[in-house]
Amino acid sequence: MSLRDILIYPDDRLREIARPIDSFEPALAELADDMFETMYQQRGIGLAATQIDEHRRLFVVDVSEDRSGAFAFVNPEILAREGTVESEEGCLSIPEINETIMRAERIRVRAQDAKGQTFEQDLDGLLAICVQHELDHLDGRLFIDYLSPLKQQRIRKKMQKAARRERERV
Ligand code: ZN
Repeated sequence: MSLRDILIYPDDRLREIARPIDSFEPALAELADDMFETMYQQRGIGLAATQIDEHRRLFVVDVSEDRSGAFAFVNPEILAREGTVESEEGCLSIPEINETIMRAERIRVRAQDAKGQTFEQDLDGLLAICVQHELDHLDGRLFIDYLSPLKQQRIRKKMQKAARRERERV
């Protein structure tokens, strides 16, 4: 297992659309393991392959407090959405930014696990929100895309400034 670098907004690679996965070789499970390790190390509750510059349809989540809720979703799709809920979100690719957006309250999702086994789940609460956030990443979408253009512009400027400071430090 190894830790992977996370792409930081406004990196254009976060806008790539991930390709479906059709091969369930051990390398896929290894990629998922790397993603879990990276997510836990960064104290995240979800990480999409897009965020580590692997443009395949895979994300991992764990919204538990004791690492008992680890799930890998391969080729996920949302079959149904119900209700709306306010969600205060952050993202490992957009550090230190937290904003409230709207999500579906309940979803039905179909996906495969890292071995290729198909499953369907009805989700609500934090897990439903997390799955919607991560699935957006696979389509090149970020949670800040749901904010007003003015707010998005402010965040972009703030992140570009932070990146400049980071470069000057090294
Ligand atoms: Zn994210």
